[in-house]
Amino acid sequence: MSITPSSPLTDFPGIGEARAKKLAKLGLERCSDLLNYYPRDYEDRRHTFSIREAPMGLKVCIPAMVARRPQYTVLRRGLDIVKVAVVDQSDTLQLTFFNQGYVSQTLLPGEEYIFYGVVEEQNGRRCMVNPIFERQDKRTFTGRIMPIYPLTAGISNHILANLVRQALDSTPSIRETLPEHVLQTQQLISAEDAVRNIHFPSDDYALADARYRLAFEELFYLSIGLSFLKSRRSSAGPGLLIAKEPLEEFLALLPFSPTDAQRRVMEECAADMASGTPMNRLVQGDVGSGKTAVAACAAFLAVKSGYQAALMVPTEVLAEQHARSLTELLSPAGVRVALLTGSLKAAQKRAVQKALADGEIDFVVGTHALISKAVTFRSLGLMVADEQHRFGVAQRAALAAKGSVPHVLVMSATPIPRTLALMVYGDLDVSVIDQLPPGRTPIETYVIHEDKRQRMYQFVRKQVDLGRQVYIVCPAVEENPEAALPGQASSPLDLKAVTTYAQRLQREVFPDLTVGLLHGRMKPAEKEAVMSAFAAGNTHILVSTTVIEVGVDVPNAALMIVENADRFGLSQLHQLRGRVGRGKHQSYCILMTSSHQPETMHRLRILSSTTDGFKISEEDLKLRGPGDFFGSRQHGMPQTRVADLAGDMRVLAQAQQAARALLEEDPGLTKPENAPVLHRVRALFAETPDIFN
Ligand code: ADP
Ligand code: MG
Repeated sequence: MSITPSSPLTDFPGIGEARAKKLAKLGLERCSDLLNYYPRDYEDRRHTFSIREAPMGLKVCIPAMVARRPQYTVLRRGLDIVKVAVVDQSDTLQLTFFNQGYVSQTLLPGEEYIFYGVVEEQNGRRCMVNPIFERQDKRTFTGRIMPIYPLTAGISNHILANLVRQALDSTPSIRETLPEHVLQTQQLISAEDAVRNIHFPSDDYALADARYRLAFEELFYLSIGLSFLKSRRSSAGPGLLIAKEPLEEFLALLPFSPTDAQRRVMEECAADMASGTPMNRLVQGDVGSGKTAVAACAAFLAVKSGYQAALMVPTEVLAEQHARSLTELLSPAGVRVALLTGSLKAAQKRAVQKALADGEIDFVVGTHALISKAVTFRSLGLMVADEQHRFGVAQRAALAAKGSVPHVLVMSATPIPRTLALMVYGDLDVSVIDQLPPGRTPIETYVIHEDKRQRMYQFVRKQVDLGRQVYIVCPAVEENPEAALPGQASSPLDLKAVTTYAQRLQREVFPDLTVGLLHGRMKPAEKEAVMSAFAAGNTHILVSTTVIEVGVDVPNAALMIVENADRFGLSQLHQLRGRVGRGKHQSYCILMTSSHQPETMHRLRILSSTTDGFKISEEDLKLRGPGDFFGSRQHGMPQTRVADLAGDMRVLAQAQQAARALLEEDPGLTKPENAPVLHRVRALFAETPDIFN
């Protein structure tokens, strides 16, 4: 039977229902799916040696002839071996195959094969275990750069490579989707060459060209989709006019003078809101860079122009803290600040909702309770989302929909690598607070094993003796959805364990100190009580889950200890670390781990080597991939496959430029020659259909 691009995989020889099911798990159902199933890596199998000259310990190809009939032996149930000697001009090579009995039938004496594997020496004889082999005259898997595919149980790389090979052979030509002039100006290879070489590259250069072309293509379609998103927003209507003059009045309220970076970003926001077009700005700033002041500034301006402002944060602890500090800051200037969270008593909630509807509250701080249907505003002029990566695009849109066209300010503490920011927030303007308030000393960070636990306790005591306070964070499941964290699912302690931990710490280690406990499932009043006791300095040590990860601000806390630190992502640890070093005291972060694995140690030591959040998140991105960053699905952002988000800045810039040029010439992509582009953009954004409305 001949195979066509639409053939189901069961049409391929050797693929029955069972294997087809496994392949479907990889998203592979038809022949054409295989072409788009790109390798995750490559293995260079081009190096050929004679038996004598082959280097030890490296994978190499050795052409040789089978010298005699293979010996097949069953050692015991479930373990059989095939032994066979092969020869070339230079020497003999002894091959051993475990549990591959069929080899005794396939390897024929007197025939030449290529054997690919690691050469070792035993008793002066050269040997190879479980080599891959194929006939000299039918080479597919040796003598070339071999694709390594993402696999699933029961599907080997060999099977996949074979399928892809057949799919390529039975596909007469691969259709071009990029416009001709883009191919030319960008000097890209054709879709045909790119797809063939991404799977079976003829050499390193062909592979590099293929990757470049496919990455470009992906980013090009992505940029076009994001432009649609952006232009749809800017056609939403005129922006509310907000005067920038009260900025000076706001600055006078601050208990400190703003850093140059804060001041610049405040002015950028003020200019946006006075421009007549709705603001859509992302403010990025490392932990402690002072984003709250920027939010407060924008809110103050909105209120002074007669509008209401809302600040949405991801946890109740944070909402309470912000409500408290913003009241303190802004109420002297007559701004009425209120708190709205899901766990307020029903009557309180109703009162706040009514006051918002009547315009008796100027500035509301809350959790995602703010998006609930029951919440209406008299005149919402500004919506700020803090620590935005916890909110989906949908939630952001839902809150924005509560005003006619409110200004939107998004604040992110996770310093998102620029490439990724462009992907995720491509529809936003970006400001960066690239400066910390003066007088901060860098936090000293140590990675410590269990054997130093007693020393760690001594250090805690020393800090407390100096008058400082200490956080100890344990990785626990938070069933509270407002605090649930993506990176945390794997075998965390339960809340009971955290509670027990705190009790034992109090009883057995620090009976004379005050140990507090905070977790996301405590009642709001309890949380509030625990946090304010800690903020007031009445608690020496606060044992907590990651509810304190974002935003919590107690300047006297100078030591952060993270238990089972290996369970956290680097960016998350950086956020946790950011809870200390917020005052004038030298601060420390101790990462406890019981793992001795080199990768884990390498990962954790990145934190002791730098406090630069951007660097850390880039490392995180390299190590864990973008998916982990946000649970990117919730952002409705398409997944990219070829584009290496951490490294492809150059391609991204080129792709964006080309996308802009194309849209300038054909804004709706309505010209017939651009139909394939539109088709691909739609396919890429299939999960975010509303961008085309
Ligand atoms: P972020 O939200 O960016 O992590 P915060 O807004 O919570 O940071 O600010 C961190 C701490 O620094 C707070 O205690 C805040 O009062 C203080 N702070 C902010 N800006 C300044 C400044 N310009 N000078 C001194 N302290 C500042
Ligand atoms: Mg903050």
